[in-house]
Amino acid sequence: DIPDIASPLRTQAIMNQYGINTKKSLGQNFLTDINILHNIVAAGDVTAADNVIEIGPGIGALTEQLARAAKEVLAFEIDTRLINVLADTLSPYDNIKVVNQDILKVDLPVAIKASFTDTTAPLKLVANLPYYITTPILMQMLQSEIHFDAIVVMMQKEVADRLSAVPGTKEYGSLSLAVQYRMDAKLAFTVSRKSFVPNPNVDSAIIKLTPREPLAVLPHDEKQLFELFKIGFALRRKTLWNNLTAAFGKNEVMVDKLTKALEQAEISPKIRAEKLSLEEFITLHNALFDAGV
Ligand code: SAM
Repeated sequence: DIPDIASPLRTQAIMNQYGINTKKSLGQNFLTDINILHNIVAAGDVTAADNVIEIGPGIGALTEQLARAAKEVLAFEIDTRLINVLADTLSPYDNIKVVNQDILKVDLPVAIKASFTDTTAPLKLVANLPYYITTPILMQMLQSEIHFDAIVVMMQKEVADRLSAVPGTKEYGSLSLAVQYRMDAKLAFTVSRKSFVPNPNVDSAIIKLTPREPLAVLPHDEKQLFELFKIGFALRRKTLWNNLTAAFGKNEVMVDKLTKALEQAEISPKIRAEKLSLEEFITLHNALFDAGV
């Protein structure tokens, strides 16, 4: 049996051995609680049939658990200092490929084709994300043409609450809509800051995203729909009408178009965007599109 990387003692020993001090600027908080790692792998239902992508393996604590459960693991780590460390800590496993690259600059479809032996296997993304780029990473993944059977990621609790928020709550906003447009989002469990070295100064949560049911209404223009999500919540406490006119203008012609679109969509101009469901946003977008806004 190979000892786990994830323990406070072993983590400290590895960091001492390689003279690694964690970089705050890279969001380096390493998990040292093996139970949390087991729970993350379990939340992803990772099995020997699955290919797994990991972002930010760090010193390999999660990578190791993924390698034991999965078919193959492809991990992207930006910090060059950690590449030698990973070559050492992960040497017992022959189903891991570590790539020294910024995940935001990777051509993921190309990397997937080049790295996995069986590209028809189910694909899952499992990671303890670098929190400073949680949103850009998720947006990149969701906007790519890649089909993920599950995305199980740790992030700041506050962001996790926004991703999984339902209409009418204060956490509900453009991020909830952008994510839920493609995936069902569920908060799997929360994680105390004590489970990391060093302790982050925020609490964390694991979010599980799975492919959603097909939408009942499709948008005429996806890019404009995503812009409408942002426009709707530009000033959260203002009405939908205020935010629409702030974005599109309020000359007579525009007021007429906006009024007609809202009527067609059967949405009150006095409502706040936080009351609108995803389907209502799409209906509104389509009506605005039809009205030539
Ligand atoms: N997976 C390890 C764990 O759970 O203990 C480390 C997670 S730590 C929160 C985030 C990791 O992401 C760090 O290893 C950091 O160097 C890496 N990272 C930060 N920015 C990155 C980027 N743009 N691309 C790839 N990895 C990045």
